[in-house]
Amino acid sequence: MDFSYRCSQCGAEYEITPDRLLCDRCSAEQTDDVPLRGILEVVLSGRPPTDWTVADLLPVEPQWFPPIPVGNTPLWEPERLRRRSGFPRLFLKDDSCNPTGSLKDRASYLVAAFARREGVERIVVSSTGNAGSSMCGIGAAAGIPVRLYLPASAPVAKLVQSQQYGAEVIRVEGTYDEAFAQSMRFIAEHGGLSRNTGHNPLTIEGKKTVSLEIFRQLAYAVPDYVFVSTGDGVIISGVYKGFEDLVSLGIADRMPTIIAVQATGSAAIATALRDGAFASPVPAHTVADSISVEVPSGGYFALGRLQRHHGRAVTVTDEEILAAQRDLAAHTGLFAEPAAAAAWAGFSAIQDELPKDASVVVLITGNGLKDVDAARKGLESV
Ligand SMILES: *Cc1c(COP(=O)(O)O)cnc(C)c1O
Repeated sequence: MDFSYRCSQCGAEYEITPDRLLCDRCSAEQTDDVPLRGILEVVLSGRPPTDWTVADLLPVEPQWFPPIPVGNTPLWEPERLRRRSGFPRLFLKDDSCNPTGSLKDRASYLVAAFARREGVERIVVSSTGNAGSSMCGIGAAAGIPVRLYLPASAPVAKLVQSQQYGAEVIRVEGTYDEAFAQSMRFIAEHGGLSRNTGHNPLTIEGKKTVSLEIFRQLAYAVPDYVFVSTGDGVIISGVYKGFEDLVSLGIADRMPTIIAVQATGSAAIATALRDGAFASPVPAHTVADSISVEVPSGGYFALGRLQRHHGRAVTVTDEEILAAQRDLAAHTGLFAEPAAAAAWAGFSAIQDELPKDASVVVLITGNGLKDVDAARKGLESV
C-alpha cells in the first residue's frame, strides 16, 4: 500500500513528512474565528491483502509502534440496555479501556510510531485534557519526550496523570487557543512534532482504527448507526475516514449513518449542519469538558462528511449527559466520563426515531475516573 496526504479542501497532494501539517494554500487564509482550513487526509492506494488487518491500512509500519496495547477495545453487548430499549443489536464500543483511559490513544499511538520512524526528538501538544494525557502516556511507552501545554481549567486528574507520565507540563492561564498558540511558538523556536488535534493529519488517521475494529467485530459488517460525542470534530472525522477507507478499498459496501452528539452549550458543528455554515463562535459551557469547544478545529472536515454521508447531529443538555452517565454506569458497569456518556444521551434522545432492528454502536470515548467532580455533580442532582 502507498500513502500520501491530500488537502480535504482543495485536493492538493503532499508527501507525508514530519513538518507537513496543513495545506499551504488553504491554511494561508486561516483566521481565529473559524475551524482549521486545509486539513490533510491520508490517501491510500494499492490493494490490501485479503486477510487484511488494521495495521495494513495505516501509513506507519508495525515495527515502529510503541509497546503499549492501544485499541482492540471490546464491543460490549449490554443486555439490560438492549432489553429496556428494545434494540437487540445495540453495542457499546468501549474505548475508555485504552491505556490512558480515552480514545485519544489511537491518535497518539500513530503519531508516536511516526515520530519514532522519523527520528523526531520531541512531541509537542496543547490540550484541554485527554489528548494531552494520552500523548504523555504513549510518549512514555515510546521513550519520546512530550511537552504539554495544558489550560488551567483542565480537570485535576488529567493534569496529575500527565505529570505521572513524566512529561513536561506547562500550565497555561488561558483558553485552549492560548495553549495552542504557545505550543506552536515553541515548535517554531525549538522544533518538535505537533500532535495538536486536527492539525496533525495523523490524529484523524489514528482515530479511524476504531471504525476498522467495529467492522471486524461485527463479523465484517457496517453498523446502521454510530453515535459519536463531538467537540472539535476530530474523532467523528476519524470514524468517517475509517468507513470511507473500507468502502474505497472495496472491503465494505456502504457507509453507516453517523450521529454527532454535542452538548447544547457547545454545539458549533450541530449548528453548522443545521445552517449550512459555521457561525461566529460563542463561548462554550458544558459539564462535559472533553467536548467543550468554541471553534472546533476539525469542524470543516466533520461538517463536510456529515453533509456528504447524510449524517445527523443531536444536542443534549448537561442534565441529560449526567443522567446518561449514571444510567450507563448503573445498567452496564461501564463508568464513562461525561463527554463519553453524551453519546449515550444522544442515543437515548432519538432512539424512538430509529428502527428497532437496526445495529447501533455507541462509542464510549473516555473513562469516568478522568473527572470525578463532574460525576459527583451528577449524583447530587438526583
Ligand atoms: C476528545 C474527546 C471527545 C471529542 O472528540 P473531538 O475530536 O474533540 O470531537 C469526546 N469524548 C472524549 C472522552 C474525548 O476525550
